[in-house]
Amino acid sequence: MTLLEELLDFNSKFVEEEKYLEYRTTSTPDKKLLIVSCMDTRLTELSLKALGLKNGDIKQVKNAGAVISHPYGSTMRSILVGVYQLNVDEVIIMGHYDCGFGALKPEPIVQAMQDRGINKSVFETLEHSGIEVYSWLKGFDSVEESVLEGVKNIKNHPLMDDSVPIHGLVMNPETGKVDLIVNGYEY
Ligand SMILES: [Zn+2]
Repeated sequence: MTLLEELLDFNSKFVEEEKYLEYRTTSTPDKKLLIVSCMDTRLTELSLKALGLKNGDIKQVKNAGAVISHPYGSTMRSILVGVYQLNVDEVIIMGHYDCGFGALKPEPIVQAMQDRGINKSVFETLEHSGIEVYSWLKGFDSVEESVLEGVKNIKNHPLMDDSVPIHGLVMNPETGKVDLIVNGYEY
């Protein structure tokens, strides 16, 4: 059985047995909160449980490193849609220690792409089109600085409502303990 078949098989039973009932909620977050966190597998459930949150409480946006890498990219757009359309009153940028994105080096990724058949000329074409592949694939040096930068990027965004507090946290992926980097009520 392939992974996809396994998932679809489980899904049929899940729906048939009405296991969805305990997860029923609305599409707006009960806590009026949006959290941007990393896609790290250790945080999938831990990041919610460690903060006392459950299905329906928050809007959750995930990407590699919990970064706001572009002011008009999909993460920033999700935050703006949350604030203006989905009752989000507060935002948290939550990075984590031991983040794979922090250690990210562009060279081995580009090499792996080439090993898997992406032609060298593609990288040249992209660079000529103004897409800086190497800096795009580079991780951050410090998670605390990256979280602070994310908070600043949202705060300074020309389309952002000034009154929305933007907090910054860093989570320990083993224990779920968070360190406060930015208190958005004061920032
Ligand atoms: Zn991470």
